[in-house]
Amino acid sequence: MEDNVKELENQALKELVKVNDFKSLSEFKVKYLGKQGMYTALLKEMKNIPSDERPKFGAIINTSRQKIENIIYETEERLNAQELENKLSQQKIDITEPAKNTQQGQVHPLYKVMNKIIETCVEMGFTVVDGPEIETDYYNFEALNIPKDHPARDMQDSFYITQNLIMRSQTSAMQIRAMETMKPPIKIISPGRTYRADSDATHSPVFHQLEGLVVDENVSMIDLKAILTQLLKTLFGDNTKIRFRPSFFPFTEPSVEVDATCPMCGGKGCPRCKGSGYMELLGAGMVNPTVLENCGIDSKKYSGFAFGFGLDRFAIIEYKVPSIKMMFENDIKFLSQIK
Ligand SMILES: [Zn+2]
Repeated sequence: MEDNVKELENQALKELVKVNDFKSLSEFKVKYLGKQGMYTALLKEMKNIPSDERPKFGAIINTSRQKIENIIYETEERLNAQELENKLSQQKIDITEPAKNTQQGQVHPLYKVMNKIIETCVEMGFTVVDGPEIETDYYNFEALNIPKDHPARDMQDSFYITQNLIMRSQTSAMQIRAMETMKPPIKIISPGRTYRADSDATHSPVFHQLEGLVVDENVSMIDLKAILTQLLKTLFGDNTKIRFRPSFFPFTEPSVEVDATCPMCGGKGCPRCKGSGYMELLGAGMVNPTVLENCGIDSKKYSGFAFGFGLDRFAIIEYKVPSIKMMFENDIKFLSQIK
């Protein structure tokens, strides 16, 4: 019996040395250690030997089996190392190969224009303030001298969240917030996103405005004209001619609309400016004394002017883009053309 075990062990060891892949290792395990395997068969033969000798032989068989299991484990380690070695020798990394080109991002054209305007205004002494995009009816309309039944509300189809909360339809709301929290002299601009239920080639439901406000003693229409002329000449060039036309806004009195010579044709007249040579750019005016009083500012001592314009309009003029919608479609092909 002992010889049988030794013989089986030697046979197994000889075979195991030849095992060179996982498949034959698995076959080896089944052949020797499986339920129908040779070591199991040997154990079954124990019934033929006297019962007092069985424990001794049981121990011999188990020791031998353990030895084979240990060598199987070592063989597995050897095969794993061999496999890794094969992979490493096959997968070559060429460190001299040029890297793939990655696409570099850039500032959105709209924000390029916005930043240029902000920079110009900051150079003229304005401070930039930011405000909430969800506004109360009070800040968006009421305090700007636009009560509930005012026809000016019809011009601005707003997105209402509740009866009292709306997506701000104009950055003018920031005038009120600034005047409530700051003391004159006030000289601020407030750029940002605004929302109206309006959608065609020149209107988008989301658009961008920039609001400017100056409040101090002895501020007059002359200051308004000087600041806006300087701003528009910086943006569109020194040869730009500026035109002020009387207009109406509930929160300014008197109010003006400001045109500049068409940057496309330089004032000669083209399809873009419908032959007029001018482009309507922004609305402005002297802050209505009612609005000053609404914010607790003494309208007898202080006066102010405000201006507001659509940044998107400036951007489509600057980059000669046919539709405002292209600014919001995030089409990389289009955006990457604008440098
Ligand atoms: Zn033109």
